[in-house]
Amino acid sequence: MNIVILSRNANLYSTDRLVEEGEKRGHKIEIIDPLKCDIIIEKEKPSIYYKDRYLDYVDAIIPRIGASVTFYGCAVVRQFEMMNVFTTASSDAILRSRDKLKSLQRLSKAGIGMPKTVFTNYSRDVEEVIEHVGGVPVIIKLLEGTQGLGVVLAESKNAAESVLEAFNGLEARVIVQEFIAEAKGADLRALVVDGNVVGAMKRQGKEGEFRSNLHRGGNAEIIKLSEAELLVAQKASKALKLPVCGVDMLQSERGPLLLEVNSSPGLEGIENATGKNIAKSIMTYIERNYKY
Ligand code: ADP
Repeated sequence: MNIVILSRNANLYSTDRLVEEGEKRGHKIEIIDPLKCDIIIEKEKPSIYYKDRYLDYVDAIIPRIGASVTFYGCAVVRQFEMMNVFTTASSDAILRSRDKLKSLQRLSKAGIGMPKTVFTNYSRDVEEVIEHVGGVPVIIKLLEGTQGLGVVLAESKNAAESVLEAFNGLEARVIVQEFIAEAKGADLRALVVDGNVVGAMKRQGKEGEFRSNLHRGGNAEIIKLSEAELLVAQKASKALKLPVCGVDMLQSERGPLLLEVNSSPGLEGIENATGKNIAKSIMTYIERNYKY
């Protein structure tokens, strides 16, 4: 098969691994920067022009679209969809997963547990917002933040007020969330391929840090998920229509609570922590689902 990885950076662990596993299985793998693609829209003849040629021979794509290029990247993915090319993540699903609010709304409807969350446009009445999520401390999150940036723990009402004021002043939209103290600065990441969990790790934030993101200096170890945790990961993948995704959740006294679903999950942390060949799982998923 001709498989294209849509990525801006050819030298990332995840890209390298997908190329390696794909080539091992006899596929031709190309890394293409979505920002260098021209989208050509014409009656019944959608096409994509890249450098000096038309991409009319592609069988499947693996979108690895960074948050900063979501708009253009998804336009390219959509164009491939118009050309009947198989994709591991649809443009609609990527767009949906990039908006924390939209995702949480859908996930809550699907019956998935999550920290109680409030979105408000009118943040002068901070006290009421804090009451909605059960009092301080609260977590305040930028709707479009990634890698733990833009996630703040406000321990007092005053702190929450100041943070909300600051974000409002910047016209940044935020959600206010119940702080899950029992998680103790750790979270779970389940890697889902074809709707099933193929690997899971527990990430622990460094000393004194409530955020467990590896980008913030956390570390990771393999973990066997409980039935309830497996179910949350599967349900989340289905609810957001992302057969390949990373599902983040917190362990709490009332069971697993979903944090977010990532449509371009990194492979380095999870492959290193679990010793599993996730890149190969993604390749075999494409082989099973691609239609000739
Ligand atoms: P990002 O998309 O930036 O990674 P997350 O929502 O995943 O943002 O939050 C980053 C980290 O902060 C999580 O991995 C988790 O460790 C911690 N965290 C987030 N929300 C909560 C919460 N409600 N209670 C406790 N810890 C949280």
